[in-house]
Parts: sequence; structure tokens; C-alpha cells
Amino acid sequence: MEIINRLSEKHNCQVKGCSGLALSLSEPPRCSLHIENPDAWFEQYVEVLSQPGIPEIGRKFSLSVAHDLYRTVLIQNPIRKEFYQAFKKRVDPRSDVNFSFEDIIYFAVAAAASGVIGNLVYDGLKTLFHSLMSRRQKKELEETFEYVVIKEHYEEQRRLQHGEDMGIIDAPPEIIAEIELKYELIIEYRQSLHQSSRHNTTHKPTQSESSPKKG
Ligand SMILES: [Zn+2]
Repeated sequence: MEIINRLSEKHNCQVKGCSGLALSLSEPPRCSLHIENPDAWFEQYVEVLSQPGIPEIGRKFSLSVAHDLYRTVLIQNPIRKEFYQAFKKRVDPRSDVNFSFEDIIYFAVAAAASGVIGNLVYDGLKTLFHSLMSRRQKKELEETFEYVVIKEHYEEQRRLQHGEDMGIIDAPPEIIAEIELKYELIIEYRQSLHQSSRHNTTHKPTQSESSPKKG
């Protein structure tokens, strides 16, 4: 039951001047604002929860909570937050109402941020999003991207990061890999939670989100 004890341990975020509560199992302890690599944190969390000693019902519950937390952590990042807030505002202009969207919305927001950071033009990212959905037999979700992320807003964010640079039209492999990893963690992971006892999944190594490789 050592893992369960670790799950209930409370630590403060170790970033100087931050009094936030650290995310469970984050190492070093970091809050949702200061966690450097949410993907790695979430994967590690899943890894720990996959160890023997936790009743199946507890495991599923913890993993489901962790998945929601992971989505929340994702949109703390300033660029993802910008796209998320803009979309939320279009859906419901009231700022004091909290609600949660389906995973695909978080995925579109995450893809947009990866595209902006990688200096990929809007149409290039749209093409990538469509082909990814089509390859995963999710054709009906293709247009979620245009629905969630508005071209003018996206290009404005890209200019904020890269100035008047023309940008990249065809997504380079590292952006594709980054977006596919997000797809696995945000969407496929949830699907695996709904299947019966599929907790011993293997985990691919992740590249650090804080140091994206430049092509
Ligand atoms: Zn913090």
C-alpha cells in the first residue's frame, strides 16, 4: 500500500515564492503552474499507478482523476490557455462559469500551441490535424480544429512568437511527434480507461516539452 501512501502525500511546490500545492507524485514537487513537462508527469503517474498493490477500482478512479488533472495542467501553459480561453468565451461569454469540454477540444488547443511554438502556418497545422484524424478513423472530428481554433487568432499568436516570419507550411517530424503524443495522452488514454483492465500499457519515452527540438 506504499503507492497509495505516496498518492496522499502533500507537498508544496518547490519553486521559490510559490505557495501552491504540488501535483501528486511530481518529482521535484511542482504545482500545476510550474510543472515543466506535463506529458512526462502524467506518464509517470500512470506508470506508478500500474504497479501492483492497488485495487482495480481505486486504480481506475485515480487514473481518471489524473487524466482530468492533466488536461487542466495543460491549459495552464500561456499559449494553450490563450486558445482555450478564446474558445470557451465563444461557447459561453460568462467568465465565472466553469465547465469541462470533451477531450477533443483540449487536443485541438494543445495542437494549436504546438503549431504556434513550431512556427507552423495555420493551413499546415489544419492539414496535419485532418490527416491525423483520418488515420485514426476519426474523420467526423476533423473539422474540430477549425471550430476550436480561429485562423486570425492563431496567426496573431504565431506572429507574437516569431515576428513576421513566413512560417513553415509542412509540419516537420518533431511537431508531428509532439502532436501525436498529445493525441495519445489526451484522447487514446481516456479510451483505454473505458476498456476493461488495460492498465499494463507500455509507455513510450517522451521528449521534453520544455526543450522542443528545432529542425
Ligand atoms: Zn508553483
